[in-house]
Amino acid sequence: MEIEKTSTTCTVKHTQICKFLGCDGCEKCTLNDKNVKEFEKQKVNARWELTQEHLPVFVDDFHESETCFFCKKRPGNPKDGYALIELANPEPEYEKGMIFGLGNPQREIVGSMIPFPVAICKDCRKRFNLAENFKFYSAIVGFILGIIITLIFSKTRFMQYGQVPIITILFVMALSYGAGKQISKGLIKKYSSEQYFKLFEVPEMKEMEEEGWFVYREEAEKTRMIFTKKKPRENFCYFSYDFRQPEGTEEGEEMSENEMDTDIDMQ
Ligand SMILES: [Zn+2]
Repeated sequence: MEIEKTSTTCTVKHTQICKFLGCDGCEKCTLNDKNVKEFEKQKVNARWELTQEHLPVFVDDFHESETCFFCKKRPGNPKDGYALIELANPEPEYEKGMIFGLGNPQREIVGSMIPFPVAICKDCRKRFNLAENFKFYSAIVGFILGIIITLIFSKTRFMQYGQVPIITILFVMALSYGAGKQISKGLIKKYSSEQYFKLFEVPEMKEMEEEGWFVYREEAEKTRMIFTKKKPRENFCYFSYDFRQPEGTEEGEEMSENEMDTDIDMQ
């Protein structure tokens, strides 16, 4: 899709960060803000180029694919939306604590953070939601049960003590929540023959893992994710294949140099 970049003053126009954050045009670009200085934009671009070095070339397949990645069968069911996950990488190295030479530079755990939309089908999303919501529903059921129990025993002397009814309700809620958590675990186990519940169990994620990517605040049984019908941006992609935009990347330059070498050799 052709998006014309209208800004006449932006110093990072047509750079890699322009293709990533400005993919829907200058009006919708988060860098297009009077509070963002031009030198800051260039810093962001330099950092983004370093982040890109740790992304496999096929990384856009995860959202462009027409089939689900969480299904265990290949190809998976047809895509019905996206699972949006926050991924982090220790690279590029980010140092802090170097104030006036005091203290050793400390390395931050997170050097890069990216939104990561993955194609997901209706069935996988339903099972994810079921496992997630069971804990929540069981707490509500526990609350209602707790009230019923206190009402049934409201005439007994035990229930007349000040905090006892509230404690009873909280206790039943906690029990019910605990049971819900176990059921949720059971559901994940039951469905794990059909789908992956953790992103990095998806076989196609192997290279991402080798590049150091991990789920930011990963949970024990399943990956924390948000389900959406749309990508973070309409034309969202990590690597732009829009040849109307000048490339200007190092790789591109290197390639033309190599080509020149071959030309010379041939002569
Ligand atoms: Zn699926």
